[in-house]
Formats: sequence, C-alpha cells, structure tokens
Amino acid sequence: MRYISTRAASGDMADRKRFCEILLEGLAPDGGLYLPERYPQVDDATLTKWRGLSYGDLAFEVLSLYVDDIPPADLKAICEKTYTEEVFGTKEIVPLKKLQEGLYLEALSNGPTLAFKDMAMQLLGNLFEYELARRGEELNILGATSGDTGSAAEYAMRGKKGVRVFMTSPNGRMSPFQQAQMFSLQDPNIHNLALEGVFDDCQDIVKAVSNDLDFKRQYKIGTVNSINWARLMAQVVYYFAGYFEATTSNTEKVSFTVPSGNFGNVCAGHVARMMGLPIAKLVVATNENDVLDEFFRTGVYRVRAGADTHETSSPSMDISKASNFERFVFDLLGRDATRIAELFGNRLSAQGSFDLSGDAAFQAAAQRYGFASGTSTHADRLQTIRDTFQRLGTMIDTHTADGLKVARTHLQVGVPMIVLETALPIKFAETIEEALGRLPTRPAKFEGIEDLPKRVQVMPADVDLVKAYIANNVH
Ligand SMILES: *Cc1c(COP(=O)(O)O)cnc(C)c1O
Repeated sequence: MRYISTRAASGDMADRKRFCEILLEGLAPDGGLYLPERYPQVDDATLTKWRGLSYGDLAFEVLSLYVDDIPPADLKAICEKTYTEEVFGTKEIVPLKKLQEGLYLEALSNGPTLAFKDMAMQLLGNLFEYELARRGEELNILGATSGDTGSAAEYAMRGKKGVRVFMTSPNGRMSPFQQAQMFSLQDPNIHNLALEGVFDDCQDIVKAVSNDLDFKRQYKIGTVNSINWARLMAQVVYYFAGYFEATTSNTEKVSFTVPSGNFGNVCAGHVARMMGLPIAKLVVATNENDVLDEFFRTGVYRVRAGADTHETSSPSMDISKASNFERFVFDLLGRDATRIAELFGNRLSAQGSFDLSGDAAFQAAAQRYGFASGTSTHADRLQTIRDTFQRLGTMIDTHTADGLKVARTHLQVGVPMIVLETALPIKFAETIEEALGRLPTRPAKFEGIEDLPKRVQVMPADVDLVKAYIANNVH
C-alpha cells in the first residue's frame, strides 16, 4: 500500500509514500493530507472471518491492509498490547449499549482519558515507540490542547522511549477534571506548559515553532494532530467492531451517528464504508458550530472566523474549520487533486468558502456516500441528557448527547442506529449538573485526582519562552 497527498499532481509516482514514512508526519509537503492510493476491499468471506475476532485481532486484520512495512508479527504484537481489558475496561473494548430497540451507543470512551481519542492515540503511542526505536531516532511532540486531545496524547506517550510531549494549554481554562488528568502525570517525558492566554494563543505558538524549520529540525519537533493518517486508520476498526456487535449476518446494514468536529472520526466511518462495510448512513452531528451540517445540507463549505466560533457545552466540537474534511471532498470529487488544491489551497484562503451545490458529485453524494447531518444546541443537549437518564437509565456526556439528538431524526426501520459515545459524562460535570441536578458518577480510578500533586509549568504565551523551555528539556 502506498499513500498519496490529496493535493499531489496526479500520477506523481515519486511522491507516493509507505506507511512508516507518513506515520511521524503531519501534512504532506504540498499542504495536502495523506490517503491510501486505494481502499482495500473487504468481501463477504472476509467479514465472516472477522466476525468474532477479538478487538486486538480485528485491529491487526484491518491495519494489515494498510501497513506493509512493519513485519506482521510485530504489528500483531502492537495491536494486542494496545487493546487490552486493562486499558479499556472491558474484554469487548468497545461494547454496544442498547438504549431502545434499534438504537445503540458504542462505548468508545473507557480508555485512560475517558474520551474516544484514546482509541487511536494509544495505538499511535505504541507505533511511535516502535518506529523510533527501529530508526534510532527521537521525537518531541509539541501540541496545543483545550482538553481531550492533549490528555489523550499524554496518556498514550507517557513512559514511551524516544518520545517527549510538550503540551501547551490555556492556563486556568480547562475544566478542573481535565487539568487534574493532565497535570497529575509525573512521567519525566511529559511536559505541561500552561500558557497565560487562550487556546488560539497556544495554537499560534505551536504553529510559529513548527514554522521555524531550523528549530524544528534541530529539536525533532513533531505533532499528533487529528490529520495523522494512523489515527484515522485506527478509528476504522471500531466501525467494523460496532457492525459485528449489532448484526448477526453480513446482509444486514447499520447506520452510525458521529458527534463531529474536525471530521476525523466520521471520516474513519467513510473509509470503512469505502472498504465495503455495509453502512446505510453516516450521520454527521454538529453542535452550534455547524460548518459541516451546513455543507451537507447546502453544498457550501464556509469556514468560520475565530470570533464566529461559539464556545459551547460540547467544547471538543467547537471548530471553525474541519481539518480532515479535505479527505472526504477528495473522494467526493473523484480524487481530483488539482481541484482539491484549488479549493482548499486557494479558494478557502482567499474567500473562506467554496460552493459545490451545482456540482453533480455533490448532488449524488448523499446516495453514493450515505452522508446525512444535523445540528444540536445547548437546549437540545440538556433535554437529551435528561431524557436519556430519566427514561432510558443511561447517563451520557454532552457530545454524545449531540449525536443522539441528531440520530433520532435519521432512524430507519430495520436499520440499527449506532451512536458513537465520544466521552464520559464526568468530563463535563457542570452541564450534567445543569441537566440532571446531580453530578455525574465518577469511575473509581479517578477518585480524588484533583488533589494529586501537579506537574505543570505556567508561563507567558511567548514563542521564545516555549522554545527555550523545549531546548532546556531535550536531553
Ligand atoms: C475530538 C472529539 C470530538 C470530535 O471528533 P472529530 O474527530 O474531531 O470529528 C467529539 N467528541 C469528543 C468528546 C471529542 O473529544
């Protein structure tokens, strides 16, 4: 399997890369995103063979179709060591919870940080450690977080050889639980930098450091952001797992509803569908930041300015543009890289939007790719959390509530609907209390984490200070 960039001039064979070459990379040099040159096809016999595999073995089977430069025995060992009951809480790893006839939650949030990002990040940690050891190299991951991504990255990389994490976050702006999760880590390879500013300041600093190519090279700076192909690939696995849990034969179809922000999670569903997984609909659920819902309804993709990005009670979906969306549009437009470069490289930066409503490909999209969408507000979230708790006896978090609210408008008789549970309620206690008048239940292992000693460096939001900190801590 080789990988191409969504913006590579077509037929550019020289630029085709292997998996381990793109594993540690972010964007392709031309500014595009990496995708496999084709989607491997999974036939009926293969689905039957995969049904009943353990999650680790299923991950190995799926990954084997995309990774041919890690010896199979090593890849298998990495998968098995990643997806364990000890780390993810159950033998099934992603058990389905039935809410009512035909409507399920797929539990993706029982990993170390209680959000679905652990599903991919835990694998990434093990892949990074493996590949860096093989190359005899080191990597310093620099990131910016307002919550879930940073903690998932830290819990995935803690104690890993060859990797250090420098995670910036806006000082005092994460929830106490999120701060406690990150700052209580005492591993010497994990560095929390709480910057006196907002999330955008953190992100600007990360960009500025990454744009200093000399510094980047000298200090081997890398990232783990959501455009990394390996993260997306790891997420493909749980679409297969959810399908097998909800069905007994390969003639059945299921639909998924995905609480979406950067379009990484639902893009993995798209990949699974392209591989032949019998998915009826992929429903994109957004919150008040409805960039994606607007696109699927109208064909217009209009990125928002920072000032037009709402701060909501499902904050991990508060995005102004969806960084993985380019991958889907690449497929939608028949993998026309020249057009993608025009749309995402030129048009978006010049005018902040593009319009595909007149394009035959867009008009055929819902049918061809199964996409549907919907949006959910703070009031919807409260109502859905309350209803799900009082009537169905299940407590859900704010992001999952957005998903469930939208899922209910896309139910089809005879097609199980699986809503991806992207976080546990304890991470968003304030809104749960607002909805239910009580605090969420807290998993035992998180009792008292707010009282643990904290390892964090508070500093002004200043590029040079961040660089100096990295330089002093890389040895
Ligand atoms: C990251 C995140 C999302 C959004 O996922 P994308 O892959 O960015 O679409 C949704 N819910 C939670 C809880 C998250 O952490």
